[in-house]
Amino acid sequence: MRASVTRPKSSRQFQSFKRKDFSLRIVTELIREENMHKGSCLCGAVKITVAGELPEADACHCTQCRKQSGHYWASTDVPTSSVSVTGEDHVRWYQSSDKVRRGFCDTCGASLFWDPIHHDKIAIAMGVFDTPTDTKIWSHIFVADKGDYYTIEEGVLQRDT
Ligand SMILES: [Zn+2]
Ligand SMILES: [Zn+2]
Repeated sequence: MRASVTRPKSSRQFQSFKRKDFSLRIVTELIREENMHKGSCLCGAVKITVAGELPEADACHCTQCRKQSGHYWASTDVPTSSVSVTGEDHVRWYQSSDKVRRGFCDTCGASLFWDPIHHDKIAIAMGVFDTPTDTKIWSHIFVADKGDYYTIEEGVLQRDT
């Protein structure tokens, strides 16, 4: 077990926590610490932490994703509540359709988020992660719109939508 759990050492809240369910809190923090996935943009102005496992990723070959990412877009969908962002004021949003906005760093331009605004999940670009992702691409979508200059590997699910 790691000893690097961060917690306020002397705050009043912590002291009362300690009296009530200190051990439960420690166990919860340790579990979450083990499953943290950290990422950042190219310049480091935006840092992202995702708590919990990263679900298998999708690769989207639609025209919007290809233009915004510069190639095709690979991302993992996670609950919005599991994501914390440092440097959020550097995240710019582009409303790419009625229901979706795309987030990028206002300094380096790195693609970060695909956000379906009416849902409580958000897609994080796979290129963001600095730590091992422990996941993989499980499907390629909108393959009918793919570019003509690359081949999608065989053996992975492909869909036209
Ligand atoms: Zn940046
Ligand atoms: Zn797409």
